[in-house]
Amino acid sequence: MVFVVLDTARADHVSACGYDRPTTPTLDRLVASGAGISCDLVSSGDWTLPSHASFFTGQPVVRHGAHSLPDTGQPLMGTMRIRPLTDTLPTLAEHFQESGYFTAILSGNPVVSGEAGLFRGFKKGRAAAEMGQLWGADMLAAVDDILALAPKEEPLFLFVNIADAHQPWSAVPPGLDWVQAQPEHRPWMKQVYSGAWTGAELEDHLDRAQNGYDYGLYRADEVLDGVLARLDATRDGPRRLVVVSDHGEFLGEHGLVDHGRYLWEPNQRVFMLTSPAIELPAELASLHAFHVVRDGALPSQLAPAESVAYPDLLWSNLSSGTKGVHTSVARWEDDVKWTWTEGACTRVDLAADPGELAPVDVACDPLSELVAAAQASAAAPVEMDPALLERLRAAGYVE
Ligand SMILES: [Zn+2]
Repeated sequence: MVFVVLDTARADHVSACGYDRPTTPTLDRLVASGAGISCDLVSSGDWTLPSHASFFTGQPVVRHGAHSLPDTGQPLMGTMRIRPLTDTLPTLAEHFQESGYFTAILSGNPVVSGEAGLFRGFKKGRAAAEMGQLWGADMLAAVDDILALAPKEEPLFLFVNIADAHQPWSAVPPGLDWVQAQPEHRPWMKQVYSGAWTGAELEDHLDRAQNGYDYGLYRADEVLDGVLARLDATRDGPRRLVVVSDHGEFLGEHGLVDHGRYLWEPNQRVFMLTSPAIELPAELASLHAFHVVRDGALPSQLAPAESVAYPDLLWSNLSSGTKGVHTSVARWEDDVKWTWTEGACTRVDLAADPGELAPVDVACDPLSELVAAAQASAAAPVEMDPALLERLRAAGYVE
């Protein structure tokens, strides 16, 4: 069983989902040879940690509680204030380990780490110490190392987070006929959020952001191709494969860039590929990847498609307190999306208004239970294992 997350891949920029740039030739090839793909999956969280915790436990964010914390009294992990995944919920990797699998995890995104509680159940694992450390050929070398350790006689559960589409976007080289070459494009949220750039200058930066992002996605897809080639060369027998994204990316919509602040569609709409193909209903919550990976099937009762975002001090600091400072929840039912942000509720019909440009103010009744659960989860104290706390201290994560 191979479970791959293409970090930060928004569904409408995936060529296998109809995007007009050829960003994902590997996914295209898999679909052409019979894999199934759903392009309207709803991400459970708004950034890497909450979404991966949902993938690994099958639980919504308000239940597993691994997310950003608004309270400045909580422990600090790097520049993020987070609650790691606690050890009270069984994980995918534990299931496969108990079933006799060799379990291994590789992550190009440093957030998907033992410190964040996401390595539980994996026998071997490695996470990038910083973004970019396990991209491209470096990730494939790490895959080679893991496959050399995996006994041939044991079934394999391999999880790989491919983070090449995540910022900071690398330079786009010349030679591709669908994207212009450009130098490395670093984040510049402050200029966008403060309104320092307008008109042609802003458009130019957003164009370069889109080029850098699309090329990052192309490179992530290339790494996926390399992972699959290495598995073909070293492992016999049929293979189940699930490829999913943990969240999308803003590329100028709603005045935003990057991800992890708001629950608009560019951040929340992701894809899932299944091989062998499984039929997936529309507006499926991404936490159901847990069941698809574990059982090869969806559960008989599907949880509603919901997302939760919590205030993030990092983003608040980057934007001088103007963005990313509110708890927000959203729920989807067919084309209707309800969103709550700090007391105000809106409703939008995505068929009529796909850009969410004119949401209508409504009563909050459809969201009241979810809002209460989100508030309770934000306020719950961090119950951190003393051993984990000690490891975080030793690693310099906890102040
Ligand atoms: Zn992510």
